[in-house]
Amino acid sequence: MTIGAQPHAESWYANKEEGPVFPVLEGEEEVETVVVGGGLAGITTAFCLARIGKSVALLEANRVGWGASGRNGGFVSPGYAQSIFAIEKQLGLPKARALFNMGRAGTQFVAERLDEFGLQHLVGGRGWLKCVRYPAEDALKERAERMARDYGVHYQVWPREAVRETLETDRYFGALHDPEPFHLDPLAYSRALSVAAADSGARIYEASPATGLSRESGGWRVTTPKGTLRARHVVLAGNATQVGLYPPLEHAVLPVSTYVVTSEPLGDRLDKAIHFSGCIGDTRRSSDYYRIVGSGDDRRLLWGGRITTARSEPKELARMLTRDILSIYPQLGAFRTEYAWGGLMGYQRNKMPVIGLLAGARDAGLWGVTAFGGHGMGATATGGNLIAAAIAAGDESWRAFEPFLPAWIDRLVGGRNIFGQAATQLVYWQLRLMDRWQESRGKL
Ligand SMILES: Cc1cc2nc3c(=O)[nH]c(=O)nc-3n(C[C@H](O)[C@H](O)[C@H](O)COP(=O)(O)OP(=O)(O)OC[C@H]3O[C@@H](n4cnc5c(N)ncnc54)[C@H](O)[C@@H]3O)c2cc1C
Repeated sequence: MTIGAQPHAESWYANKEEGPVFPVLEGEEEVETVVVGGGLAGITTAFCLARIGKSVALLEANRVGWGASGRNGGFVSPGYAQSIFAIEKQLGLPKARALFNMGRAGTQFVAERLDEFGLQHLVGGRGWLKCVRYPAEDALKERAERMARDYGVHYQVWPREAVRETLETDRYFGALHDPEPFHLDPLAYSRALSVAAADSGARIYEASPATGLSRESGGWRVTTPKGTLRARHVVLAGNATQVGLYPPLEHAVLPVSTYVVTSEPLGDRLDKAIHFSGCIGDTRRSSDYYRIVGSGDDRRLLWGGRITTARSEPKELARMLTRDILSIYPQLGAFRTEYAWGGLMGYQRNKMPVIGLLAGARDAGLWGVTAFGGHGMGATATGGNLIAAAIAAGDESWRAFEPFLPAWIDRLVGGRNIFGQAATQLVYWQLRLMDRWQESRGKL
């Protein structure tokens, strides 16, 4: 255990193995790049830089993978928290297509690392069944056609009968099957990538929160309780838990809590309900997604859902999510929830990640790779690769994300959080309202 770090959330992932322990930063060091935040955004950035021989140090306040990256649902899929059609409406098809392809490259990066590290056993299943809770066959067909025509991906439309043979519930009226996504143990992957980064020369420090960031000639100075790092580049990747380091960015990232439970081993009982080993979800943005984890008699249901603006976990969390499960699969009968945990997602109001040079710091080497919302397993890989390429080789591909940077926050509100909780609440209501509205109109 490292000194002063918060332990991992009590989750199905954390209880499987100990994981690596990295040292605390002590004293002064100089590197080319400092990455703040040991989630997948930061770890991927550090890995990509170290792999090509760049000097990089990563500071993690707790343990590597402690945040959303080590406690999420584990669905790895292309795309962003914002829907691709909304992006297309804002930027036009060619730019939306370029962004979509960058998202696919992120998913591909994760798949390639699993191959490279010999970690295929972390993958629990492939494909994603996106179920609808209302009759919407025409809308499903339209979406599949549009995705094939404009984005080159091939979703299959599953009619109601096919879905009901696969998922024994009367709640679903059809589904889209997307073959590309897969699911894995996100904490094990986060740890493996951080070990690979360290093996390539990245200096990784745990229990080392960045508490100060200041400009000095030729670069930046980042301080922690016991040490100092000097660097030409700083990459801020602290997601929704980063506070007090660079307020214009932090004020643009709104924390939203969401939850996951894992059942006791259900083994054969699951055969009465679910005959699909991939990712399952409904098209509600703020609702249920789930998958079977483990094998044989140890098979369990891992179920994610619900969002709140509170940082503390609801007292009734396990009971609430169990009720959600039984409302879809009552035949599972009473079961014990073995793990129940929550985590924070960081959202910008535009629901797109921050990837790029930060406002007010142009050409000064201050970068952001954060705010991936509920869709970060693939997109953090996209972001990490883009920022590393920009630092290492001056690559400007990150500019595809420039329209989503929170540059305006400096100018309009002078770094003051005039929206705070109210804005979070608004994003949350927007997500919930969209679900209800789409269901009532039978639209996706
Ligand atoms: C419960 C839950 C379920 C989810 N399910 C999915 C899913 O199935 N699929 C999917 O694609 N996405 C999912 N997401 C979203 C996904 O997990 C996130 O988008 C992604 O992990 C964000 O990665 P990150 O590196 O930006 O942030 P994080 O993983 O949160 O990492 C940020 C790290 O920065 C550290 N930090 C903060 N401040 C400092 C500081 N000052 N100094 C040093 N370190 C600092 C924190 O300790 C933390 O470890 C889910 C999220 C949650 C919470």
